[in-house]
Amino acid sequence: MEKKTKIVATVSDLRCDVDFIKSLVDAGTNVVRLNTAHQTLEDTLRIVENVRKVSENIALIVDTKGPEIRTSATDFKYEVKRGDTVKIMGDATEKTNESVVYVNHPNFVNEVDLCEKILIDDGELELLIVDKKDDYLLCKAKNTGVIKGKKSVNVPNASFSLPALTAKDREYIHFAIEHDIDFIAHSFVRNKQDVMEIREILDSKNSRVKIIAKIENQEGVDNIDEILEYVYGVMVARGDLAIEIPYEKIPGIQKRIINKCIEVRKPVIIATQMLHSMIKSPRPTRAEVTDIANAIYSKTDAVMLSGETAYGDFPVESVETMATIIKEVEKSRGDYHKTPITVLSSKTSAYLAKSAVEASIKLDAKVIIADTSSGRTIRNISGFRGRQPVYCQCYDKRVMRELALSFGVYSNYLESNATYEFVRESLEQLISKNVINQDDRVVVIGGNYGIRHGASFIEISEVSNLKKQYKS
Ligand code: PEP
Repeated sequence: MEKKTKIVATVSDLRCDVDFIKSLVDAGTNVVRLNTAHQTLEDTLRIVENVRKVSENIALIVDTKGPEIRTSATDFKYEVKRGDTVKIMGDATEKTNESVVYVNHPNFVNEVDLCEKILIDDGELELLIVDKKDDYLLCKAKNTGVIKGKKSVNVPNASFSLPALTAKDREYIHFAIEHDIDFIAHSFVRNKQDVMEIREILDSKNSRVKIIAKIENQEGVDNIDEILEYVYGVMVARGDLAIEIPYEKIPGIQKRIINKCIEVRKPVIIATQMLHSMIKSPRPTRAEVTDIANAIYSKTDAVMLSGETAYGDFPVESVETMATIIKEVEKSRGDYHKTPITVLSSKTSAYLAKSAVEASIKLDAKVIIADTSSGRTIRNISGFRGRQPVYCQCYDKRVMRELALSFGVYSNYLESNATYEFVRESLEQLISKNVINQDDRVVVIGGNYGIRHGASFIEISEVSNLKKQYKS
């Protein structure tokens, strides 16, 4: 319970054994993300099973690719030198070879214009379109690099006729439903309709899988308010975002999206290149340390690692580095976020949530103890970004895992929902973990009228008193 900002780590099928995942979790990972661009359903299932062997508290995010363009699947590495001419064609079934680079959108050539830039692999390679024929483009390479299979292809000003969901996305949505995955992070969400298409599939199966919108182009940024109404949370996917729109706009957009998410109490993840240099190096750059710190000062719920943990040379060190930076920065930032009261379940619970956080800071409590059936009261408390961790008992394992993405929340599963059992259980667990001792002050937020009624009281007292008061 040392850090409050959560870490999402991307895990690939190439390295997903139980010991490896356990070491990521021990280093501070709260949520595991599976990037389906590079996986088969069998690969993904193997990772899911291994994560579940490590801990039932770890939430799982399956990333669907949405309307995005990538180079076609191949092991061939197309080497490009600055000034070379590169021929590009649109055909997902063809493999890139010595003379042509294939991308997965059949109409790609028709939907781009002369003189536009094509950015490959999160902008690692930049090409300029210098000639356009009926079925191919000729491009001039602006720098030296390698074009590999399944890498991102962005054309900043182009609008492509792509459906919100691909056939693979649909397969993965059904996979997520069938395997009780916690979150689907959907790529390139442009508006509420993109979200509704997933929602309809989930609803038709009565699924509780939650949707995270990956904001990675201008349309997503422009429509963030309507998108927020339809999703559980948001990922600021800076990889594509910084290519689709001018990169100098990213810091401002990141800050604005975090603020909006806090206001409506929806978890927000800041993603991509947070420790990019640690893919190859054991130490972060100064700029990376400051980038993570900036996200913490802005009070994000979570920060994410991609290639660093998926295929980098220092995966566990990357998580440890991130956790160390988080802990240090959390010590030095403001205690309390002056965010408006938000009514998620009931007005009573909304006001109690604010009071619990304020009291825990002003009275120097050690921890806030709470219980929840839906997670709403807890997300409300989390929204104030208080100093003390929220130790929360959940009567539903899904809710417990969903809260893995919320700032400052440590959740457990409690089978018995007998009134006040969560207080007894929490005190016992926290004492045995040496988080609290008899003299520490604790804030309890709970309900006197059963779990359906929600929170109705706050109690503030020393552990020794609470133990006497709530003994069975
Ligand atoms: C991103 O673009 O920043 C991102 C997280 O998505 P992906 O990993 O699919 O590129």
